[in-house]
Amino acid sequence: MAAAPGKSCGPCTMCCSALEIAELKKPAGRTCPDCRVGGGCSIYADRPQVCRDYECEWLTRRDLSRTLRPDLVGAILMEDADSDEYWAVCGPERPMAWRHPRVFAHLVAVAKSGRTVVAKAGLVSWRIFASGEWGPTV
Ligand code: SF4
Ligand code: SF4
Repeated sequence: MAAAPGKSCGPCTMCCSALEIAELKKPAGRTCPDCRVGGGCSIYADRPQVCRDYECEWLTRRDLSRTLRPDLVGAILMEDADSDEYWAVCGPERPMAWRHPRVFAHLVAVAKSGRTVVAKAGLVSWRIFASGEWGPTV
């Protein structure tokens, strides 16, 4: 999938910090050593395939507002490749960023469509329900 018209990562580097990248042996919440302050990758031309392939929901979906860019709200919206879950992944510095009103409203809307919606921050996660209720996963 390609970036939606008019969208680009710009200064956002959240997927280089908040996400676990097994291929790079990078745990969730630790910034990749090749991540430049202010945006971009210092090994862009030679970056691993996993980095070339990754695109968050915000980047590819036309219907997600520019104001939901991950670095602005503190949460990456994404499909989990290994399950049918829809995730909001937050960094350790803003673990409750998924409660940002615009992010939370989007997550509830996704839950109303029948999806399993989970917010994650490190090893902690919460389920968000169509009713607007939420609670820790077990
Ligand atoms: S989280 Fe999304 S917008 Fe931010 S750098 Fe990664 S792909 Fe780009
Ligand atoms: S190699 Fe580059 S694109 Fe991949 S996580 Fe590190 S900084 Fe980001």
